[in-house]
Amino acid sequence: MKIFKVFLMAAFMIVFNSCVKDIEETNFASEKVTEFGLVIHGGAGYIYPGRYSEMEERAYKEKLKEALLIGYEILKNNGTALDAVEKTIQVLEESPLFNAGIGAVLTSEKTVELDAAIMSGKNLSAGAVAGIKHIKSPISLARKIMENSPHVMMIGEGAEVFALQNGMEKVSNEYFITEDKLKEINKIHAEERKKKSESNLIIDSGNNKFGTVGCAALDKFGNLAAGTSTGGMANKRFGRVGDVPIIGAGTYANNKTCALSATGHGEFFIRNVVTHDISALMEYKNLSINKAASLVVMDKLEKQNGKGGVIGIDRLGNITMIFNTDGMFRGFITDKGIPNTALYKD
Ligand code: ASP
Repeated sequence: MKIFKVFLMAAFMIVFNSCVKDIEETNFASEKVTEFGLVIHGGAGYIYPGRYSEMEERAYKEKLKEALLIGYEILKNNGTALDAVEKTIQVLEESPLFNAGIGAVLTSEKTVELDAAIMSGKNLSAGAVAGIKHIKSPISLARKIMENSPHVMMIGEGAEVFALQNGMEKVSNEYFITEDKLKEINKIHAEERKKKSESNLIIDSGNNKFGTVGCAALDKFGNLAAGTSTGGMANKRFGRVGDVPIIGAGTYANNKTCALSATGHGEFFIRNVVTHDISALMEYKNLSINKAASLVVMDKLEKQNGKGGVIGIDRLGNITMIFNTDGMFRGFITDKGIPNTALYKD
C-alpha cells in the first residue's frame, strides 16, 4: 500500500511538473515585460570565433549598436514600431558590412537586385519589393507601397517607376557594389568554372554568410512591426526572388502574436512559410515566441538542412533570436536603453 502511495505521488509530480513547464512555455501572460523594444539581425551563417579580426568584430557590433539606438530613440519618443523598423533597417542598408543596400551580394550577372518587405501587426498591412536595382532604400520603398498603393508587392521596373513618382532617390546599380562583393563573386565563378556545369550553379560558396538585415519592434501603443531588406544570395540567377519580400516567409507581424524577420537560405524559408508558421504556432497552439521559433528553426528547418535564423518580439516584449548556423549578427534593446549585441553562439 505504501509503495502504491509513493508511486501515485511520483506520478502526480511528473504530470504536475510537465503542466508547469507547458504553462511557462505558453502565450497566456498579459503583462508587458518591457514598455517597448526592438530586435535586429544582420544575417546568419558561417560566423564563428576566429573568422573575423577584432577590428571587424568591433565594426559589426558598433553598427548593430548604432542601428539599435536609432530605433530606441524613435520608440522612446512615442514613435511607431513601423518608423523604428524602417529607420533602423536604413542604417544597416547604408552600411557595406551587410548584405542589403550598399554591400549587397551580386547576382550571377554581377549586378545587384534587392528585395525588401515591411509589415504592420496592427492591421496586417504590408508592402514588399523585389528585383530593385536603382532605389537607394528598398525598405522605404516597401513602406511607400504599403501606404501609398492598393498593392502589397511590386517588382522591378514598375516598382522603380512607382518609387520615382513617390519622390524617392534613384541611384546607379554600381552605387550598391563594393570591392569585397566583386571579389566574392569572382571567386564563386572561378569555383563554378571548375565544375563546368550550369546545374552546379553555386549559390552558397560554402564560406558565405547570409548578411540580410531585419528588425522587429514593439512600440508603447502595443503595436508590432517587422521589416527585412536584402541583396538575396550570392550568385543567384538574375530574377531570383528570395523569402524576404514574401509575407509570411521572411517577414511577418501580427499584433495578436509577434513580429518576425528571418535570414538564411531563402528557398527553405519560402517552402516552410517560416515566419507565419511561428506566428500560427503562437496563435493556435499558444506557444511562447521562443518555443515556436525554436520548433521551426531548430527542428523543422534543421531536419531539411535549411540554414538560417529568426529574430522576433512578441506583443508583451519577449524577444527571440534563434539560428541553426554557426552564428548570427544580432542585437536587441528594451525600454532600459542598453543595447545588447552578439555575433556567435553563446
Ligand atoms: N534570406 C535571404 C534570401 O534568401 C538571404 C539572407 O538571409 O541573407 O534571399
